[in-house]
Amino acid sequence: MRMLWGVIAGTVVMAIPGCAERTVITEAANAMGATNLNSIQYAGSGSVFGFGQAFVPGERWPRFVERTYRVEINYQTPAMRLEAVRAQGENPPRGGAAQPVAGEQRTVQVVSGIAKGSTSRSRAYAWTEGGAQPVANPGAVSDRLRRLWLTPHGVIKAAIANGATADGKVATFKIEDRDVTLTLNDQNLVERVRYLDTNEVVGDSPVEITYSDYADYGGVKFPTHIVETQDGFPTLDVTIQEVKPNVSVSLEVPANIPQAPAPPATPNVNVTKLSDGVWYLNAGGVSSWAVEFRDYVVMVEGPNGEARSLAVNEAVHKAIPNKPIQYVVNTHAHYDHAGGLRTYVAQGATVITHERNKAFFEQVWARPRTVAPDLLAKSPKPATFETVSDKKVITDGSRRLELYHLQNSGHNVATLIAYLPGERLLYYGDGYNPPAGDDPRDPARTPEYGIDLYRNVTQLNLNVERIAPAHSSRAVPYDNLKKAIGILPPPSS
Ligand SMILES: [Zn+2]
Repeated sequence: MRMLWGVIAGTVVMAIPGCAERTVITEAANAMGATNLNSIQYAGSGSVFGFGQAFVPGERWPRFVERTYRVEINYQTPAMRLEAVRAQGENPPRGGAAQPVAGEQRTVQVVSGIAKGSTSRSRAYAWTEGGAQPVANPGAVSDRLRRLWLTPHGVIKAAIANGATADGKVATFKIEDRDVTLTLNDQNLVERVRYLDTNEVVGDSPVEITYSDYADYGGVKFPTHIVETQDGFPTLDVTIQEVKPNVSVSLEVPANIPQAPAPPATPNVNVTKLSDGVWYLNAGGVSSWAVEFRDYVVMVEGPNGEARSLAVNEAVHKAIPNKPIQYVVNTHAHYDHAGGLRTYVAQGATVITHERNKAFFEQVWARPRTVAPDLLAKSPKPATFETVSDKKVITDGSRRLELYHLQNSGHNVATLIAYLPGERLLYYGDGYNPPAGDDPRDPARTPEYGIDLYRNVTQLNLNVERIAPAHSSRAVPYDNLKKAIGILPPPSS
């Protein structure tokens, strides 16, 4: 993957003027003004959407207002910086992706190689800015480099450097290990790029970026409208208001970034005992439960993906030896909560989910997985489901696990919560994420989804003492939820 980047960085400047035959790609390079474009800045605004976070399984992604969308690229380093400022877009809040957003959220994502003149130009680094110091994102390098080479002029440079073959106005070639299809319009301007991304829930997942409404910026053509879709629904729709070709863009790798450790190949699993026979397993930044019954184990939630499920299940078998994991409860079909389910299917467990999710999972789990085949793709077998309409109880006579449909949830229409009445413990997928520290209030969110949880728990008469939900690494008092949504006064400071 890194080698490809090196090829582009090393040869693109030579390749364009040196190309003897005038292919449709060199026509496009001329029409776009790509040949002498070494850097660019562009900015706009519009909408951004939360992929995999639909309100209704299988429907569109929830929308946010993209107040700022600002890109800086140096094609020679190569380096790209994307600054985005988003705000709440759905009113009332509908769907996931960390809504309801309070105020504005700013993110800055960067990828960059070591600057020219350095002796080691063979590596690129990815990081996030905005905090006290830059944070390394080593797992994002390939993805962000691909995004760089899929920009209107980047894709032309990549097509030339990587020996694209053209058929009429359509060219195909590889960027960062993925097959890319580039379509040109009548004026040989870049109209569309397409490639297959991969996702643990849906498998192969097409990404399409459409560039339209071109304008001229001193010989450089740039689209004033950019629309991205993933799996058929928009993920970005921005109008570009400002374009500056060949301004100086220097994105130096911060000193702390190359020293950052590589992500572990196997996620670390932190196991906490919540009560006798009830374990809280935090791995990959998200938590699930293992609940011991007389003859088997019930897992609550199969989030993230296969690497996490395998690591967590190994820890479960150590904590609860000699009992099979017979069931995995899925709270809802958001991809961060459902990406690890297929591992359980491959290992023979039955999936318990709300009745509206069954057809969705059956449909997406039957799709192709050519980009990243998982265990179930390598040894296919049909999934076994038990579905829940309003309520389901799992019991062996002594332990009792109750599952309830979360009524009128704004977050997701087909959501279950899990309750252990004997232990007075509550698990949910989303709604209120207990922050670290003593103040239970989350300054990044408004409380609508927490109120949904509280209303359901109250109507069901659940006598909850502690919550130990998906997006937390520790169990906290149920009163923290009440303080966060204003039912109880916040702690005095
Ligand atoms: Zn969710």
